[in-house]
Parts: sequence; structure tokens; C-alpha cells
Amino acid sequence: MAEKKMETFDPIEMSEQQFEKAISCIKKLKKGLIEFLKKPKRVTIVNFPIEMDDGSVQSFKGYRVIHNRVFGPGKGGIRYHPDLTMEEVISMAKLMTWKCALLNIPFGGAKGGVICDTKVLTDGELRRITRRFTSELGDNIGPNIDIPAPDMYTSEQTMAWIFDTYDMLHPGKNNRPVVTGKPIEMGGSYGRNEATGNGVFFVTERFLAKALIPELQTVSGARVVIQGFGNVGAVTAQAFFRKGATITAVSDSQGGVYCEDGLNPDELLAFKEVHGTVVGMPNTMTMSNEEILQLECDLLIPAALSNQIHGENASKINAKVIVEAANSPITPMADEILSERGIYVLPDIVVNAGGVTVSYFEWVQNQMNQQWDLEDVNARLQKKMYKVIDLVFDHWQGFVICEDISSNEKKLNTLNGKKLDFRSVALSISVERVAKATLLRGIWP
Ligand code: NAD
Repeated sequence: MAEKKMETFDPIEMSEQQFEKAISCIKKLKKGLIEFLKKPKRVTIVNFPIEMDDGSVQSFKGYRVIHNRVFGPGKGGIRYHPDLTMEEVISMAKLMTWKCALLNIPFGGAKGGVICDTKVLTDGELRRITRRFTSELGDNIGPNIDIPAPDMYTSEQTMAWIFDTYDMLHPGKNNRPVVTGKPIEMGGSYGRNEATGNGVFFVTERFLAKALIPELQTVSGARVVIQGFGNVGAVTAQAFFRKGATITAVSDSQGGVYCEDGLNPDELLAFKEVHGTVVGMPNTMTMSNEEILQLECDLLIPAALSNQIHGENASKINAKVIVEAANSPITPMADEILSERGIYVLPDIVVNAGGVTVSYFEWVQNQMNQQWDLEDVNARLQKKMYKVIDLVFDHWQGFVICEDISSNEKKLNTLNGKKLDFRSVALSISVERVAKATLLRGIWP
């Protein structure tokens, strides 16, 4: 009897499995380059003390990782979380490299964070942690070196503190582009808060219009389930709802709600504002997060945590397309199962790239001391997101035809006998671009 494969949830191992699959789509890649692209360029670890409000002293650990900077300065969020690990930060920095390369944004991949629990820290303590962390990073960050942004449990306030600290240490320069995701009053971009959710919508709308699923060619009328109702999930729900989709279920950390006739995201947001959760919304049925994921729908949009769809539940998913708004919500084992079952997965590096795209717009505006209006930002975002899904889709379609050119049997979209997924295609485009640019620059010295 065949032995059951053990599933890994190690972030580095999972990103390596995806990487290996992607590079098998690339015809020629120097072996040494592959090793170089697998590893982070630089990992900075800092330990520092903070005086707490009660007069005690606590020690904190922070990380900043640059995975690659072939295309430009590092770019990536700063996360505050008690369970943060260096491995997680490294794999998220890698994801940023591939995302920026795919979008043709002139940044490399980076990520960082501090191990801390924001739920038990006061504003004053958070401000001191942020300022001290920034000063410890020193010249490892900078407008043309590495540009942080908000991530889980950091906000535009955190970015304002980072900017202020950096500005104090580097007087007399335009330091606004040192961070993105700043408050509007301090050089933030209009549309940044909604960028990821709006990007999720643009990518999906364009993908459906390609008629790969004949009965599902528009967002209008689509039945949509969204896991997570935070920044990304709520904006995504609003965008789909405005274009005539039926949002049948949403969830947050406390559980989910379902309504056959559809939920109104604005009413859900108002309810959540008062009650702190969507659970208990009138005229809805309460469900667990696991049940939400398994509901029958056209589009399933995970917009919360990583590893939500895995080897154990992938065979129970009942959607036509999964749109990865969150980072890494599907494990490599689940990817295989979904692919075999004919469920399309639109991958995170395409779907949630709206956030880094408008971060890049913010950086450009800061460099030019300009502030674009909202319509301008959204029109540029739409153009970028349409372009990236077109690119991935065209590669996916074209790929196979090349491979099978000598064969009489025409196997569409396959690689080594397996169905080719959009993630591998998207990743392979990014890796090929970074590899080519590395060689074009010429390897130093
Ligand atoms: P957020 O903190 O605003 O929202 C997260 C939501 O997930 C909350 O509603 C929370 O209650 C919910 N949640 C937590 N645990 C859950 C569980 N077990 N089941 C269901 N829901 C649960 O975060 P966000 O900014 O919306 O980010 C969501 C995801 O999108 C993350 O994976 C993040 O890395 C990714 N992402 C965000 C951005 C951005 O611009 N905010 C950009 C790219 C990727």
C-alpha cells in the first residue's frame, strides 16, 4: 500500500516546493543562480531593551530580511506578532521578490517584524518599540535601500513613527519615501488602504472575462464566499457586491455567517464596528470557519491567514475558482489536489499585488513631492492588475503548446504529465526575470 505523504507547514520548505515546481517550467537556468535565488541576501537580527509603562524593562527581538535587490531597493511589510519566526520572515521576503518582479515594480523583496503581542502593549510602549527598532536597523533601511510598509498588527501610525525616527536621524533630506502606507497627511497615497481589495477584484474580473469557465464570465451573479473580514476581505466584499456578485458567506476570527440570498458588506461592517465580529448578524446562519471554506460557491476568497486550505480539506472545497487574497492560504499539497480536481487557483503573487503596487505609487509620489487624486491612483492600479493577469494567463496558455510541439497528442496546460497551475507559471515568469536581470547586470566583481 502506498505510504501517505506527510504534509509540511514549514514556510521555507513550502516556498521551496513551489519554487522547484516553478523552475521546472523554465528551460535554461544556471544551477548556481538557482541556489542564489533560494537564499536571502541579508538577514538582520536585532535585540533591544524597552522601558515599559510600569517601569520594568523588557527585551525584544526584531528582524529585517532582504531576499533580493536585483531590481532595486527592498520592499516589504513590518509585522508585529508574538509567534513571528525568522523562517516566516524569510519566506515572506521571497514572496515580495517574486511579486515585485511579476508586476515590473523596481523593487526587491524584503520583510521584517518584531516579536511582540500588540494586544497587551500600550500605545506608548508600541511607539518606543517602533522607534528603537528603527534606530537599531540604522542605514539598513532608507528611501533607496529598503522601504518598509505596514503588515499584520502594524498600521499607518507605525509608519508615521518609523518615518519620524528615520527623519530625525537623517535631517535635511526628503525622507518621505523611507516607508509607504503612511497617513495621507504625511505623504500617504490616496487609495492605499483599499488597494489590495480593489486589486483582488480587478484580477478576478479580468480572469473571468477570459471565458475559461463558460458559465462564469462575469462577476455579476457570481456566488462568492470570503474568509476574513478585515482590511482586505471587507474591501474585496464591497467591490464584488457593487458589481452585482452575491456574497453568500464571510467569516472572521470568531466564526462565519451565511445567507442564501446574499449579505450586504456595508451592513456587515456597521455590525462588526459595534460587536467586534460579523457573528450574530441578524438574518444569517452562524457557521464555523471550516464550514465556510467548504460551501458551494463560484469564487472562494481566502483573505485571512496562511495554510487554510491543506491536504486534509482540499478535497472538500466546493468552488470553481479560489482567489488567494491572503498570502499563502493554500499549501503545496492542497495545490496538487485542487489542480487534479479542476479547481483553478489564482495565486497570491498576482491577486494581492494591488497593495505593493499602490505602495510603489506612494513612493513615486513622495520622490516627486506630488499627491495624485484617488481616480488617478485607481485607474493606474486597474491597468497594472489587468496587465499582470493577462501576462500570466497568456503564458499559461502558450506554455504547453511549446512543450507538446513534437507530440501528436495535444495535452493542454501540462508539465511532465501534470496539469500546470497559474502559481507555477506566475512564479516562473518572476524567477526568469530576476535571473535574467542578475546576468544582465553582470555578477560582481
Ligand atoms: P486584517 O488583520 O485587517 O484582517 C484579517 C481578518 O482575518 C480579520 O477579519 C480576522 O478576524 C480574520 N481572521 C483571523 N483568523 C481567522 C480565522 N481563523 N478564520 C477566518 N478569519 C480569520 O488583515 P488584512 O490586512 O486584511 O490581511 C489579510 C491577509 O491578506 C493576510 O494574509 C495578509 O498578509 C494579506 N495581505 C494584505 C495586504 C494589505 O494590503 N493589507 C496586502 C497583501 C496581502
